[in-house]
Amino acid sequence: MASPLRIIPLGGCGEIGKNMTAVEYGKNIVLIDCGVMFPENDMLGIDFIIPDWQYLRDKREWLRGIIVTHGHEDHTGGLPYLLKEMPDLPVFATKLTRGLIEVKLRNHKILDATRLNTIEAGGRLELGPFGLEFFRVAHSIPDGVGVGITTPAGLIVHTGDFKFDHTPVDGKPTDFTKLAEFGGRGVLALMSDSTNADQPGTTPSERVIDTAFAHVFREAKGRIIVGTFASLISRIQQVANAAVKHNRKLAFTGTSMLENVKMAQKLGYLDLPSDLIVRLEDTKKMAPERVVIMTTGTQGEPSSVLARVSIGQHSQIQIDRGDTIIMSSHPIPGNEEMVNRTINRLFQRGANVLYDPIAQVHVSGHASQEEQKLMLNLVRPDYFIPVHGELRHLRAHEQLANQVGIAPQNVFVLENGQSIEFDEGEARIGERVPGGYVYIDGSGVGDVGPAVLRDREILGRDGFVVAVVHRDSDTGQLIDQPEIISKGFIYVKDAEHIITGAADAVTRIAQDTTLNDKALYDKIKETLSEYLYHETKRRPMIIPVLS
Ligand SMILES: [Zn+2]
Ligand SMILES: [Zn+2]
Repeated sequence: MASPLRIIPLGGCGEIGKNMTAVEYGKNIVLIDCGVMFPENDMLGIDFIIPDWQYLRDKREWLRGIIVTHGHEDHTGGLPYLLKEMPDLPVFATKLTRGLIEVKLRNHKILDATRLNTIEAGGRLELGPFGLEFFRVAHSIPDGVGVGITTPAGLIVHTGDFKFDHTPVDGKPTDFTKLAEFGGRGVLALMSDSTNADQPGTTPSERVIDTAFAHVFREAKGRIIVGTFASLISRIQQVANAAVKHNRKLAFTGTSMLENVKMAQKLGYLDLPSDLIVRLEDTKKMAPERVVIMTTGTQGEPSSVLARVSIGQHSQIQIDRGDTIIMSSHPIPGNEEMVNRTINRLFQRGANVLYDPIAQVHVSGHASQEEQKLMLNLVRPDYFIPVHGELRHLRAHEQLANQVGIAPQNVFVLENGQSIEFDEGEARIGERVPGGYVYIDGSGVGDVGPAVLRDREILGRDGFVVAVVHRDSDTGQLIDQPEIISKGFIYVKDAEHIITGAADAVTRIAQDTTLNDKALYDKIKETLSEYLYHETKRRPMIIPVLS
């Protein structure tokens, strides 16, 4: 009996971000994308989240390669971590995507150890039993592709991120012809971008931003500061075009943006006249109405340039009355609060801040409902798997598929780790594999679990109290008064009686010489927690230290 074809979403199903899909046939796996997701507000101290690829660890010899559809973080950001584990894994990406990946891998100091290969839209590639065909998709970054994969079980199509923009900034619209050709051949399953499945109509073309920029550049009396993602190469081109037209010079700030600009320019994806670009420090000497500054930080990340500017802590950019700031990106879900705080602070400093929906300075890179229906109609798959979206987006996309005539039982809304199997043209739910979160913070990969997050939450809210107990190691008798040290919990000067009370409580417990260390530790923790809660209605973290 032939082996079934399996599709396993490892990320991006039920969330916006950390996209990753495994396609498996026999002992062969091809991967699509490996992204990051940004943490939600309640994940303290977490820099970002990567997919859980536990399933792949004992199948290293099965891996034929990874296709990276485009250069956005939610498709590339997990790669350095994947490649540190599996440096042999061949990576396939278009020229610009590869360039962006190289920047990333160089920063992680693993570029030389990895195997990068360049593909192009319209190109083909054989990987084990898989025949891959890449097709152009329009998105908010140039050089994006989707992929059709011919397998022994049938043809499957993955759109990557897309929209049907007829006038994209790079002049390369989504390849309708190829999609229709797939449809004609017969497609077993389609995986399609669901990000905007709750948006009716059609996503406006990138071009509408030119109009909005033209207006802002005409009206602005002082400096213009444009914030966007470092990987939104098309947006950088649009700002550069507006700057040339309105006789302003352009400076970049933010390491990732500087690196990406340099690379995209070298590869020919950015066309910047040489006299357009100036250094940030030079802008200080220039008339404000001659200056545009591009920066990152539109997600309100506390360490980013824009966030530091908003609190007056950036060494080179101070906001002056008359500055116009354009936030040219949408907040990633979960970041709204931080973004709004940054916008408010920038206003407070006297800037005029323009953001969507106040001005059309950003359009989505993702298809809306009418485009999603068009995709479904062009490809006409037997089975449909909505991907890239929270559950509500996946469900909305499911409805659209039903509307265009795909039977409800042929649409599979999957969670990360939930595999689907195709056998003789029939689909069924398959094995479930790990599909959770792997947290990355400054300290490394996966060292942080839910318990650590809970601890950080307690620390952030109620602080901690350390109780140091000195006992004689032979007799167990107290040698000295217990010490109580608190941080972030109460202002000690106003609450000396509470600290004294806590020390007394610890003394009473520690006088019981029959308690071993473990029992003493637990009892101090429990008693202090109750005592402090009784006194203050707060529960700091209690850390007994026995010496
Ligand atoms: Zn994207
Ligand atoms: Zn994406």
